[in-house]
Amino acid sequence: MTTTLQTGCCIVGAGPAGMMLGFLLARSGVEVMVLEKHADFLRDFRGDTIHPSTLELMYELGILDEFLKRPHQEARELAGQVGNETVKIGDFTHLPTHCKFLAFMPQWDFLNFLVEQAKRYPGFQVTMQAEVSPSEPMAGSRLCANAPVCRCWIWAHPWMCSGCESAAAPEIRVRA
Ligand SMILES: Cc1cc2nc3c(=O)[nH]c(=O)nc-3n(C[C@H](O)[C@H](O)[C@H](O)COP(=O)(O)OP(=O)(O)OC[C@H]3O[C@@H](n4cnc5c(N)ncnc54)[C@H](O)[C@@H]3O)c2cc1C
Repeated sequence: MTTTLQTGCCIVGAGPAGMMLGFLLARSGVEVMVLEKHADFLRDFRGDTIHPSTLELMYELGILDEFLKRPHQEARELAGQVGNETVKIGDFTHLPTHCKFLAFMPQWDFLNFLVEQAKRYPGFQVTMQAEVSPSEPMAGSRLCANAPVCRCWIWAHPWMCSGCESAAAPEIRVRA
């Protein structure tokens, strides 16, 4: 099935980078659509530590309280066992941040949280099972088909990170 979608800015990839950017743009009043090729975020393990600096960013964005209501664990210190001795290898308690701990939350829960926060803004859309297929990787302006859908494309996945302005935007293949 092929669907044509319309928005102001498309972000390809709903990982932490793409989702956070989508949230920030929507929060700034930009019409934005995040496109993710997978059906959900629940797939390969991609980590579960959310660092104090990230938590501080969430504080500044006004979403920390909501985040901390979600199931998570907090580690204020990290220690390792060397022989019979326990050695402290990390201490977050003195950091100049609101959260003096490392939060543990699976990345898929964190991404679902970001989607929920971003959806509070009317210009935000996320489309799952939407794989963008560039005909010429990194070519920039002409990515796949010809329908002008949006002017700005941002690739937010590790294999192809860049921003580009696109007069002729790609066809977006949505696999149902
Ligand atoms: C085993 C492991 C453990 C980790 N542990 C931690 C940790 O504890 N704490 C931490 O902070 N970091 C951790 N990381 C690192 C963290 O997972 C990455 O830094 C982070 O996922 C990178 O985010 P990203 O958005 O740049 O890329 P990605 O997470 O890779 O997101 C890219 C997204 O783009 C989608 N995509 C790709 N191609 C297309 C396409 N053509 N069309 C549409 N969508 C597309 C992908 O499906 C994916 O969802 C870990 C990584 C691994 C592998």
